[in-house]
Amino acid sequence: MSRFLSPRFAGLEAYTPGEQPRDQQYIKLNTNESPYPPSPEVLARLNADEVKRLNLYPDPEGKILKEKLAKLYGVEKENIFLSNGSDDILNFAFMAFCDEERGAAFPEISYGFYPVYADLYHVPHVKLPLKEDFSIDYKDYCDINKMVVVANPNAPTGMEIGLFEIEEILKANPNHVVLIDEAYVDFGGTSAVGLVGKYPNLLVSMTYSKSRSMAGARLGFAIASKEIIEDLEKIKFSTNPYNINRLTLAAGEAAVDSDAYYKENAKKIMATRETTVKDLKALGFTVLDSKANFIFAKPPKISGADFYAQLKKKGVLVRHFEKEKIRDFVRITIGTDEQMEVFLQKTQEVLADR
Ligand SMILES: *Cc1c(COP(=O)(O)O)cnc(C)c1O
Repeated sequence: MSRFLSPRFAGLEAYTPGEQPRDQQYIKLNTNESPYPPSPEVLARLNADEVKRLNLYPDPEGKILKEKLAKLYGVEKENIFLSNGSDDILNFAFMAFCDEERGAAFPEISYGFYPVYADLYHVPHVKLPLKEDFSIDYKDYCDINKMVVVANPNAPTGMEIGLFEIEEILKANPNHVVLIDEAYVDFGGTSAVGLVGKYPNLLVSMTYSKSRSMAGARLGFAIASKEIIEDLEKIKFSTNPYNINRLTLAAGEAAVDSDAYYKENAKKIMATRETTVKDLKALGFTVLDSKANFIFAKPPKISGADFYAQLKKKGVLVRHFEKEKIRDFVRITIGTDEQMEVFLQKTQEVLADR
């Protein structure tokens, strides 16, 4: 720390991203990226002509992409906000809709970034425990008088709550934003986007990083009432109007045009997930019910930390969290069938050594 840092940030604990090692080739099942490449349309769009225009600023409004997304999701362009990854949306939402008085509530076990943003903006927040079975009890979020942030499906559990529960949360918090983080919704979850017309306090965030194979491009979007979108735009235009670069915008447009390709990939990943769950259960694992492109599983005979470390030695990366309530588990991203076969092979080797 330099002596110049504002004391406001002295105690801030930053988010720790999953490791992105460069020392060797791993089978990378630790950060929930898609194992499939971007669509041929996206690759074609990122050609020399596009690169040649990098001397020019991108469209700060992202009009074309907004129109395409609006059409895809059956909303108006004014209901769409574009961002540099969906982390950007979370950042702006905490900045816009919370402060020292207006607090936030989110699950104790969820995306590790929520408490970081809350701390960054000095937002008083409550972390609500999950039920014994790792599910979210929606009643905990009703009448809570705070901004509610729920990942649905949740991470790292992969479990989802239904639209009925989400509507109850929305109805019980009419004076606060309810942010539903749908980073993983395309893998069999149910989207709340259809409720946007009915609930002016609903903010749904989505990302290109998981189902759309563009984690490296950094693109996210939110769908909400025009008023909420206006607020987010105000923050964006007060911080970084060009938060999405020209190449990413172009790739994002082409990705919407090839939506069928990504739906097909999501289907493949869901099928691979079901096979992997079955195989792990046969080996004695406890596996939570996942609607995401990852599974949360507890190995038999070996601790979560040990399992993670042994797999890493064998060239397979998964994610382990030290938090007490989930330290017995590891989160395993669903890769291709071939990658999951190697993962299972290595898993069997690790368990055989016990
Ligand atoms: C991956 C993830 C995000 C954000 O990812 P971006 O790459 O910033 O779009 C947001 N929420 C959850 C729960 C995630 O797992």
